[in-house]
Amino acid sequence: MEYVSFTQVIAYIGLGSNLAEPATQIKSARYAVDAIEGVQELAFSSLYHSLPMGPQDQPDYVNAVMCVTTELSPLNFLYSLQKIENDQGRLRKGEQWGPRTLDLDVLLYGDQEINVPDLIVPHKGLDERSFVLYPLFEIAPQLFVPGKGSIIDLIAKCPLSGLRRIDSHV
Ligand code: ATP
Ligand code: CA
Ligand code: CA
Ligand code: CA
Repeated sequence: MEYVSFTQVIAYIGLGSNLAEPATQIKSARYAVDAIEGVQELAFSSLYHSLPMGPQDQPDYVNAVMCVTTELSPLNFLYSLQKIENDQGRLRKGEQWGPRTLDLDVLLYGDQEINVPDLIVPHKGLDERSFVLYPLFEIAPQLFVPGKGSIIDLIAKCPLSGLRRIDSHV
């Protein structure tokens, strides 16, 4: 029998939604991500409320961070997440940071630094966004972000900017 071994990488995903029952969108996405072949959930943060970036004439967001193990390549991982965004009705209208049913960002992929046309990892802006850093800290307080520093140092420099944790877990 042939022996096949896969390299498992720990990756972190930032989830966001501000349309069509955001908390339900996040919960559906959590199960859809875990259902991807070659991806498995390790941890999921609380849900957080955040204020929109960019255009202010849109609803507040619900955010969370998910930790998974994956044997997919970085690009295949991204494309699998984009399929889930599309399945959950994500429309791309060309407006940066406009309202959306679901946004799934690759925050970290192991300790790799990646810069190719479709994918930049660690996610740019990660170190300035409270709705990414605080949920990330909740599930990975010892984390080191390649090229940026320890999560604890990043949090110390990042104000909450209206972020608040929602009590219930998904
Ligand atoms: P931001 O990336 O600032 O959070 P956004 O999430 O609204 O903004 P999108 O419209 O969802 O941006 O994605 C635009 C493009 O970003 C995607 O087509 C994708 O190829 C690219 N991209 C680059 N790096 C990443 C990453 N780490 N995770 C997800 N998409 C990425
Ligand atoms: Ca799976
Ligand atoms: Ca995003
Ligand atoms: Ca995105």
